[in-house]
Amino acid sequence: MPLLGGIEAGGTKFVCAVGTGPEDIRSEARFPTSSPGENLGQAIDFFRQQQSREPLAALGIASFGPIDPNPRSPTFGKITTTPKPGWAHTDIVAPLRQALGIPMGFDTDVNGAALGEHRWGAAQGLDTFVYLTVGTGLGGGGMVNGKLMHGLMHPEMGHMRVPHDWNADPYAGFCPYHGDCWGGLTAGPALQARWGTRAEKLPVDHPAWDLQAHYLSLGLANIVCLLSPQRIVMGGGIMDQRHLFPLIHNQLKKILNGYIQAKPIIEEMDSYIVPPSLGSRAGVLGALVLAQEAMAQQLW
Ligand code: ZN
Repeated sequence: MPLLGGIEAGGTKFVCAVGTGPEDIRSEARFPTSSPGENLGQAIDFFRQQQSREPLAALGIASFGPIDPNPRSPTFGKITTTPKPGWAHTDIVAPLRQALGIPMGFDTDVNGAALGEHRWGAAQGLDTFVYLTVGTGLGGGGMVNGKLMHGLMHPEMGHMRVPHDWNADPYAGFCPYHGDCWGGLTAGPALQARWGTRAEKLPVDHPAWDLQAHYLSLGLANIVCLLSPQRIVMGGGIMDQRHLFPLIHNQLKKILNGYIQAKPIIEEMDSYIVPPSLGSRAGVLGALVLAQEAMAQQLW
């Protein structure tokens, strides 16, 4: 098995790894996400050191976005309109390709994590599923009929609109584009702003969690109705609060109200909406799968 490189470029950290899979990670490095110049330099140094010991066959990059993942597009390899300061219109792929000279795979962080879970984790054997991350932002990706979702560019599930009862919850949301879109109401900064404390500091019986499960379930119901996924994997810092899962299971069932007569939803909700089996490594492991696919397709 040829040696592969993977980068998970997340909103808060850059994770670089070399290996062939979860049981064979030869080296790994993490850097806080700062500026493109600094982070790409750190990644290049890490993989060059690796290449001096043993050649890498390909590199996969799973990046926060929005991005252009279409290899035939003139802006392929770029982060596009991100509100993250300093990162809009950054070319991620070109500097790495120039420095390392190997095939490059490039997709969203959530499509990357979906690939990881599909190969080694909670989505094995499925052909239509969704991977969501709820952390500093909310993002979603996954597969339909065995292929990663792309289309126009890639899904932006975190920016769906969900019903917002302004009397019950006067918080306006933090999305710089939409205010109270799905992620604007449910990602980490929303909890911090609404309740005045970080999510992990909120006690398990705090009313924040019922409201959080309510909003998350509204968006999940949309995803279930729209894509008919066989399973939904939910990761990210907020979902590390595992007590959210049973709340979501109950609320999602209530919202769907018996309309979707599928056994996983009627009887097996706790194995339908699940945490990632690969935990926080789903993204970087998925990046290795992206690398493998780039190698197979000779994407230079
Ligand atoms: Zn938005």
